[in-house]
Amino acid sequence: MLLRVCRVVRAAARAHSSSARSERLRSQAYIGGRWVEAESAARFAVREPASGQLLTDVVDCGPRDASTAVRAASDSLAGWRAATSKERSRLLRKWHNLMIQNKDELAKLITAENGKPLKEATSEIVYAASFLEWFSEEARRIYGDVVPTSSPDRRILILKQPVGVVSIITPWNFPSAMLTRKAGAALAVGCTVVVKPADDTPLSALALAELADEAGIPAGVFNVIPSSKSNTPAVGEVLCTDPLVAAISFTGSTATGKILLRHACGTVKKASMELGGLAPFIVFDSADLDRAVAGAIASKFRNSGQTCVCTNQFLVQEGIHDAFVEKMVKAMHRDLHVGNGFDEQTTQGPLINERAVEKVENQINDAVSRGACILTGGKRHRLGATFFEPTLLSNVTTDMLCTKEETFGPLAPVLKFRTEEEVIAIANAADVGLAGYFYSSDLAQIWRVAEQLEVGIVGVNEGLLSTVEAPFGGVKQSGLGREGSKYGVDDFLEIKYVCFGGL
Ligand code: NAP
Repeated sequence: MLLRVCRVVRAAARAHSSSARSERLRSQAYIGGRWVEAESAARFAVREPASGQLLTDVVDCGPRDASTAVRAASDSLAGWRAATSKERSRLLRKWHNLMIQNKDELAKLITAENGKPLKEATSEIVYAASFLEWFSEEARRIYGDVVPTSSPDRRILILKQPVGVVSIITPWNFPSAMLTRKAGAALAVGCTVVVKPADDTPLSALALAELADEAGIPAGVFNVIPSSKSNTPAVGEVLCTDPLVAAISFTGSTATGKILLRHACGTVKKASMELGGLAPFIVFDSADLDRAVAGAIASKFRNSGQTCVCTNQFLVQEGIHDAFVEKMVKAMHRDLHVGNGFDEQTTQGPLINERAVEKVENQINDAVSRGACILTGGKRHRLGATFFEPTLLSNVTTDMLCTKEETFGPLAPVLKFRTEEEVIAIANAADVGLAGYFYSSDLAQIWRVAEQLEVGIVGVNEGLLSTVEAPFGGVKQSGLGREGSKYGVDDFLEIKYVCFGGL
């Protein structure tokens, strides 16, 4: 199936860039189990970030298409929630198996539309599929409770039931994994969903819809409605205000999350929000320096710095600061290779678009104007407008933009600190708190700092943390709720208290 879907992407892989088009590439919306055009017949272009060349164009859904998709999800709800958990589990597992069978083609699709290196794209597919596998297992363990009462003639039962239709809005940086982490959990417990993928990366979501169809997920249970940036606000409004929608699940920027929460409050929908972060990466004097540098490279430069848990600022204690900086420069020169994601040696693909490059440039200009030093990188890469050199800045201070605003690019600013108290205050000054990392070999300090960091995810002597078994989510303005793990189903469930009286 995906062999034909991905013909166009293979052409891009071969040529590194080609404006090859294929009428067979899935480019329509998937609503109620059918592939359909938008009511307006509009389409929008999907481009390869590496070259700017056209990959294909896809259906540009508007608000009326969003309402149609919500209606389809609502119509299919009764049947899906009535299916046994074993049946839902079986279908999710089949969907997972199809993802694994088609892993290479799906990965190429990600590299083409997102730009990340093929090896990272393949890891994303395995990670994305792991959520379908995990939630196919969790589907059978949505237990309620029987609670002792203080009245002898009563019994208290607690049931867990699907919340209903869920609107899902996903970002471009993990076009497959952010979708399955939400949809896997929602479908497992008996909800039906409408997914709006990011306009930069709709092809992965459409490929997953094709596999869901092949797996036998019933019509209307899983719907995908791509929309262009100009249609997105109106589509988002429908997805967050339609009375048939019970819950919204969003991953993206904090600014967009706030808009969606405002929409959702009118009808008091449940909301789970995975929003932006400003991850600190702290290196204490007692750290194993080589481990810290390896963790720093992994946590900062994965996906060219475009993950929500990417380190935003390095905070390094004065006794180890100079050695850390020196080793970082060496490691960056040795390990980071900018190039097209389809090239085998590439570790740093393009950024998603030129706006992302401008943001990095702006932060560097601001930092340098306030006294920061560029130790390596600092400018656009000769490969093209979306490529940027991995950059290390020293002499960074807390008044600089790069310490206050999420970078989402390959920029590593280093600040020097003296005491544990001082560094905790710097790290916790942010109004967001998704991930935080620190390196130390002092056991008492490890406990103190892990407990004090105001974030949802802490890496102790570890730079890569995301895994299906662990809860993912933030505190403060980084969001609401947790995804993955045994907690990942909670946002899609209602708890019902049933009182049996007169016994
Ligand atoms: P974004 O602009 O908020 O976009 C994310 C999604 O929201 C896209 O599908 C986008 O659609 C949609 N959107 C934008 N404005 C909307 C509106 N008014 N109504 C409805 N939907 C709307 O974020 P981004 O720049 O793509 O992604 C980067 C951000 O995501 C970063 O801040 C990052 O930290 C965060 N992120 C968080 C996590 C996490 O788990 N916490 C994971 C990954 C990323 P269009 O593309 O069509 O505009």
